[in-house]
Amino acid sequence: MILDLRTIYVVSAMTCLVLGSVHLAAFGTGRFGRWPAWWGISNLLLIGIGSLCVSLRNFVPSFVSLDVGNVVTIAGYLLTFFSVRVFAERLVDKRYCALAVAGVSLPVLLFTVDPATVSARIFYVSIVCCLCDLAILREGAAIHRREKLFSAGLLAWLYAPTAAIFLARSLFAASGQIAGPGAFGDSVVHGWMGATAVVFFALRSVVIVLMAAERSRNKLIDLAHRDPLTGALNRGGLAQRLPFKRAQSFALLAIDIDNFKQLNDQHGHVLGDDILRLFARVAQTMLRPSDLLSRQGGDEFLAVLKDITDAEAVQTAESMRLAFSAAVGQVPGLTVFPTLSIGVATSGETDVDFEQLLRKADEALYASKRRGRNRVEASEGEQAA
Ligand code: GH3
Ligand code: MG
Repeated sequence: MILDLRTIYVVSAMTCLVLGSVHLAAFGTGRFGRWPAWWGISNLLLIGIGSLCVSLRNFVPSFVSLDVGNVVTIAGYLLTFFSVRVFAERLVDKRYCALAVAGVSLPVLLFTVDPATVSARIFYVSIVCCLCDLAILREGAAIHRREKLFSAGLLAWLYAPTAAIFLARSLFAASGQIAGPGAFGDSVVHGWMGATAVVFFALRSVVIVLMAAERSRNKLIDLAHRDPLTGALNRGGLAQRLPFKRAQSFALLAIDIDNFKQLNDQHGHVLGDDILRLFARVAQTMLRPSDLLSRQGGDEFLAVLKDITDAEAVQTAESMRLAFSAAVGQVPGLTVFPTLSIGVATSGETDVDFEQLLRKADEALYASKRRGRNRVEASEGEQAA
């Protein structure tokens, strides 16, 4: 069955003009960041205006249908790539972007002058679109990895078939199978490739909205699970990440800042807040990526260290205590020097209940306070540093 290519171009144009307008309207509300403007413009330019021009071939001067149509389509394609980079919150230099768009889209004019070069033109346009699709596929996969966005993986997969379609189209053009004596030729393959591409164009616009929704959801969950002052987890955030796999050994560090009330009274709450932030920064540098740090309230924190021996846990606590003292020593104008008291409890090989271990770490913390503060105390059976 031969599909009518002019109709496909018109449908593409209408689909993209509508989707592009919706994205621009969304951008106009000011609630969705910059990416909908880039995506909307690229879609409007992409198949929208570009396809409309191409679909009018023989009805309008060839300058409009060929020259403008092809230049605008390529420009739109490149802009789609940049709009995904904007979505990824990567730096996009507008001058570099304009140069790239002009440098890649304008050379197509070299092929539009002579009708004998129609295969070369189709080859050029298809290969540029194929490379753009591959670049977007890569960018989508990177967002998927970095932000754990399931929908970004979906976007990457959606660009694979169109990259293959454009590659096939460029190969057909190179072998002279898509040259068409008429305005649109009458190739069965060309028609089906065009129809399939339209479906993918529409799907992408749906998926990028899904990506934005998934990202917002992740950000909201993260905000709800973190203490806004220090960035450490709150109790809810910690509870979400527990329990670990059964039989996984772990250690708890119950940490309390010494003399914090006095520091607040002497230097004010603003500096007190700075010291809380400083502690969280120092503590994070002492922990491994798999460890957890939560603010239990006030100046009390809890660190959860996975797969660690008693001695290593005590050593980590001791390094944290020393690093915090050193960092506090760098704060100018202090007259009260807060230190850390830390209680350590380790589950060992046995299947210990989290609450039970927390009680042991707390008891060790109180022992450290009783024994003069600024020290690490291990719960019974473990060796303090
Ligand atoms: P100790 O050595 O026994 O731990 O005594 P402390 O002076 O550190 O006092 P304690 O731990 O009992 O009290 C913690 C203080 O922390 C009390 C409260 O005013 C203060 N605090 C709680 N939350 C915040 C906060 O978000 N910012 C600031 N600046 N202070 C806070
Ligand atoms: Mg305290």
